[in-house]
Amino acid sequence: MKALLLVEPGRIELASVAVPEPKAGEVLICVKASTTCGTDLKAFNRGHPQIPMPGPFGHEYAGTVVAAGTDAPFSPGDDVMGVHSAPCQQCYWCQNGQENLCESIMATKVLGTYAEYLLIPERIARLNLFPKSKAMSFDVASLLEPLACVAQGILEIQMASVSLGSALVIGPGAIGLMFASALKKVGFGHVTLAGRNPARLAVGERLGATVTQVSDIKLHEGRGYDVVIECTGQVEVWEASVNYVRRGGHVMLFGGCKGGTTATFDTKRLHYDQITLMSPFHFGTEAVRTAHKWLTHELDLSPLITRTATLEEGTDVFAALNRGEGIKTVFHP
Ligand SMILES: [Zn+2]
Ligand SMILES: [Zn+2]
Repeated sequence: MKALLLVEPGRIELASVAVPEPKAGEVLICVKASTTCGTDLKAFNRGHPQIPMPGPFGHEYAGTVVAAGTDAPFSPGDDVMGVHSAPCQQCYWCQNGQENLCESIMATKVLGTYAEYLLIPERIARLNLFPKSKAMSFDVASLLEPLACVAQGILEIQMASVSLGSALVIGPGAIGLMFASALKKVGFGHVTLAGRNPARLAVGERLGATVTQVSDIKLHEGRGYDVVIECTGQVEVWEASVNYVRRGGHVMLFGGCKGGTTATFDTKRLHYDQITLMSPFHFGTEAVRTAHKWLTHELDLSPLITRTATLEEGTDVFAALNRGEGIKTVFHP
């Protein structure tokens, strides 16, 4: 089968590799759609600790089951959508309601969705693979993984009993746009999306957000926002985020920064204005189920997909993403 491999930073190659065979509990899917992700772009540009090189590339997918091992939860012909990891449900963190921090969350992860076929390991097939409704396109179904990250953030906000009034999302990439959409869905009356890229902000407007340039952010109603969500992964933006939240509000530092970086905050502001910092990572099974429900019934995220490509166009796709063109590209292997 054809598969895109990430050979080294800046170089991807279309290779011919063997089609894997599913063992007990595993399923093999024919990949119908596989979306690009900011993580992939980071790996393409500078490498990534979770993405070995040279190796299979891509982690977002939807497709049709073509073969299944014994006792697998799906059968050939089923249309499915899934994420690329699943928790063990046995370690300390899993047992204490933090499956997203599972010790072995990455141990069974599946990479290589930019390929004609993808083998889904038993644990993922059992916990984090779902049926795709006929009404939903494979392209949109492939957005389950990034939306699960966002759902984890929203679940954390709901658990923290934050008032569902106003939210500011900084960074109009795919994650910021998904946050803007999901925050409205869970009941935030006012959502502002701040960024620089006009084309992305226009998509935010279509998704129901009020948009603004970063330099023009105002304190909501003179007080600041109930919640501020940072989605850029830039240290300066982490630090600036606390300036826009109201006293007693919550700041979610969502975008992962470059390794080894340090952020500085005004201690007086954090303490006397009682600012709560949150920084959720990855997702547990509840977040994936929530994202599946949103995508199936409640959110239309199709405006996030701005280009369709073949595997042969891989190099060009990542060059274009590096130029800031578009939001997500979907490969049709
Ligand atoms: Zn992703
Ligand atoms: Zn675990």
